[in-house]
Parts: sequence; structure tokens; C-alpha cells
Amino acid sequence: MQINEDLIRSVITQVLSEVRSRSESAPTSSGTSSAGGERFGLFTCADRAAAAARRAFEQLRTRPMDDRKKAIDHIRRISIASAVELGTMEMNETKVGRLKHKIEKLETLGRRAPGTEFLTTQAYSGDRGLCVIEHAPFGVIGAITPVTHSLPTITGNAVSMIAGGNTLVVNPHPSGRKVAAEGVRRFNQAIYEDIGIDNLICLITEPTLESASAIFKSRDVSLICVTGGPAVARAALNSGKRAIVAGPGNPPVVVDETADLDRAARSIILGASYDNNLLCIAEKVVFVVDSVFDAMMSAMERAGAVRLNAAQIDRLTAAAFQEVGDDKHLAPTKDLLGQDAAKLAAAAGVNVHAEVELLFGETKAEHPFVSVEQMMPFVPFVRCRDVNQAIELAKHYEHGFRHTSIIHSRNVNNMTKMARALDTTLFIKNGPSMAGLGLGGEGYPSFSIAGPTGEGVTTPLTFTRERRCSLIDDLWILGGPQS
Ligand code: NAD
Repeated sequence: MQINEDLIRSVITQVLSEVRSRSESAPTSSGTSSAGGERFGLFTCADRAAAAARRAFEQLRTRPMDDRKKAIDHIRRISIASAVELGTMEMNETKVGRLKHKIEKLETLGRRAPGTEFLTTQAYSGDRGLCVIEHAPFGVIGAITPVTHSLPTITGNAVSMIAGGNTLVVNPHPSGRKVAAEGVRRFNQAIYEDIGIDNLICLITEPTLESASAIFKSRDVSLICVTGGPAVARAALNSGKRAIVAGPGNPPVVVDETADLDRAARSIILGASYDNNLLCIAEKVVFVVDSVFDAMMSAMERAGAVRLNAAQIDRLTAAAFQEVGDDKHLAPTKDLLGQDAAKLAAAAGVNVHAEVELLFGETKAEHPFVSVEQMMPFVPFVRCRDVNQAIELAKHYEHGFRHTSIIHSRNVNNMTKMARALDTTLFIKNGPSMAGLGLGGEGYPSFSIAGPTGEGVTTPLTFTRERRCSLIDDLWILGGPQS
């Protein structure tokens, strides 16, 4: 190679840019970064956040698995120890849901979000040697998170993504950005002080649709994971990158004539009132066969839910929905989304005790509370001729999201029929919806359930790529010719 002035100039430019970029990301001995404000994961610029997450990934990939475990343990510890403080902060900022459940969600994800134990190696051995399949990181994952569980989604995503060896850059929902930033700052600080890597989780402090789009487009980002409604699901699928999409749901419940009605009522109240029905898996509408419809309504009242009559439901409906968008589709109003049952009751013209967790009432199938993903502690009950009609309506109003469905029944044929017809990612039988996420049932929790793209309830394996490593003709220690 010939050394000339251009070559020298280009090498110097490259070295200077490298030095500049390293000094921007390197934390000082006091744990701060020289890049003014861009420390412990908090960034205003999406490109700089993605670049910092990429640098953190390059550091993490040189470290042992034990460092991933240490990082995750800090996230778990902080989520549990600060659940009351951060849960209260989330409640005050987002103003949707219920405080005790905000706290419980952080504690649960801190305790049980799946970690490095999910990464097991597969091996094939035989006459021709040994082949192992391991789970490698993607790199930087761009995550978009919802207002309904701002910090809990980040907590669960961070545990699973870092367990898989990745780092992340998060665009939180603008209405939950402050608690998201506070959680991320604490996680990063503790991780940095222990293993010396900052910015494993980078977050945009003033998130916009533009910053989301910049994350989608960034060359530093290898994979997208979005948790939210239809618009962000569409945007991720059109991003040109591989996307894991945890999209919207409208979970229907079927109650047939063989169900334990009191158990069904308790389950529906537990699931539909949890965090004021904000969960994407929560019971949104109940289809009950005619022969037990009246008995089921009585069971709901016995279990503590308050029944609204037709006029009260009409008043509530007028306050609960508004037309939005060019196509004027109905969406829940901000005034009532995620609010307490007592507030919904007041809008319906009824006074109920503050302790009441759920309202319910009879509606036709063609009702906004049935068709719209409403996220409020009022559940419509629809009378159905028989179980076949109940399943048919459940399928129709699940809208093909293939997200979550629930049945209360002792008839295995009906369970099978519904499972086959709706084809949902979660199918829960004889319990509250969240039992299907491991909260009161078997399995593990995650608040990103990828229905449209098929990964299901996300785990560290969701965020890894398979790599195969083969040794030919050697290391099969059980047989073959003697050497
Ligand atoms: P949302 O769709 O309004 O917002 C979710 C996130 O997407 C936010 O960060 C928002 O800023 C962003 N966003 C919205 N449109 C975008 C676009 N065009 N491009 C880029 N980003 C965009 O939802 P929400 O009100 O925050 O949360 C409730 C919704 O999320 C419900 O539909 C619920 O079912 C769904 N959800 C799904 C899961 C799951 O695991 N499948 C979990 C929680 C919530």
C-alpha cells in the first residue's frame, strides 16, 4: 500500500472519531459520563442512545455469563426493593390503573421474569463428531413500551434481553416516560458500579414518534420489540427490520352450562379488575349460554361485582367512548380508561363503595364495550343460545388478534372446540386471565406477549439467534474406531 497524504489524513480522522466516541461513552471515576447528561442510560437523541447501547453491547459480549447474571440481579433487586416508590411514581404519572397492582407488577417481574436459566445448549453427537447449538445475542434491541405498564415492561424486557446477551434502547410511552427514566437510571447506575459497564439499557427521555422511527432505522439496532396497540404493531412490521410484536388484544370469556359459576365469577372479577383492566390479557367481554345466564349474573353479584341496568350502561357508554381518526372509529376516552369502578359508576349515575372492583351488565353483542378494547373495570355480559354461538361470537370479537381467550367449563369437548376455533396465544381454562401468565397458574411472567409474530410469552430465547458449532469426526467419546 502506498502511503500518501490522503491515507494519513483518513487514518487520523478515523482515530480522532474513535477517541471522541469512546470518551463520550466512558464514565468517569465518579460514575458520570463526559457527554453531559448522557449517563446511566438517559438520552435525548435516539441515534446517540442507539450508539451508546451498541458500545455497551461490544463490552458485554467480551464478559462472562456471570456479568449478565449480576446485571439482571440488580434489576431484580431494585424492582423489588423500590416497588412501592416506583409503583407510586408510575401511578402518579400515568394516572391509570391501581396502585397496589403497579407495585405488585414490579415485584412479580423482579422475582420471576425469566433470566439466564433459559439459555440451554443443545448437542448432537455421533460417528461424525459433535455439533452444539447455542443461543447468541442479536446486539442492540429497540424496544417500544406502553403506558399501561411503563416500567414493568422495561423491567421484564431488560431482564430477558440482557440474559440473552443484548443491550437495549427504549422509546417509552410519553405519558410514562418519567418513571421509565427513573427506573432505567437506577438499574444502570447499580450495574455500572458493579461490573463497570454503563448504558446496558438506554432510554429516550423525551420520546416521540420521530425518536421511535429513528430507533427503527438505526444501523446500530439489530432487532425491534414493540409492546402496544395496532399503530405501533403496524409501524414495527413495516420497519424493514425483524420485529417481535406484542400487539393488542380483546380477550373474550365463554361460560358454558357445565361451569362452576361461583369460581367463574371470582376469576372474572380478579382478572378484569386487575389494574383496572389495563392488561392486554384481561377479560374484556363474557359470552354466557342462556341456560345459566341469570345464575351467572347472580354469582357475579355474590362475588362482589355491581350490576348496572340498561339505562346506566347507556350513560356509561356515552362517557366511555369517543370517535377518533379519519375513519371515526371508537376508542376509550382518557377520562375513564383505567379508572376505578367507582368513577365509572359515577359516570353511569350510580354511587358505589370505593372498594367495589368491577361493574358488569347485560349488553347485546353489537355494543362498543364488546367490540372495542376498552381497558376499564366494566365487563359486558352477552346472552348466547348455546356454547357454539358463544364460541362463534368470542372468535368474532377477538378480531383475529390471536391474543388471549378464556373458558369456564367442565366439558373438555367445549374447551377443545374453543381452543381450536380461536387459536389464541394464551388460552386459560377455569381461572383468571393472569393465571395464564404464571400469576396464579404455572409458567413464567412477561408483559410482552408476541401474538402476531408468534414468539408467544417472551423469554431470553426470544431475543437470541441460534448458532451451530460442529467438530467433525472427533469428540464422540462413546464409540467409533480407536485412534
Ligand atoms: P399505544 O399503542 O398507544 O402505545 C404503545 C407504544 O407505542 C407507546 O410507546 C407509543 O408512543 C408507541 N407508538 C404508538 N404509535 C406508534 C407509531 N406509529 N410508531 C411508533 N411508536 C408508536 O398503547 P398503550 O395505550 O400505551 O398500551 C395499550 C395497548 O398495548 C393495548 O392495545 C394493549 O393490548 C397493548 N399491550 C399489549 C401487550 C402484549 O404483550 N401483547 C402488553 C401490554 C399492552
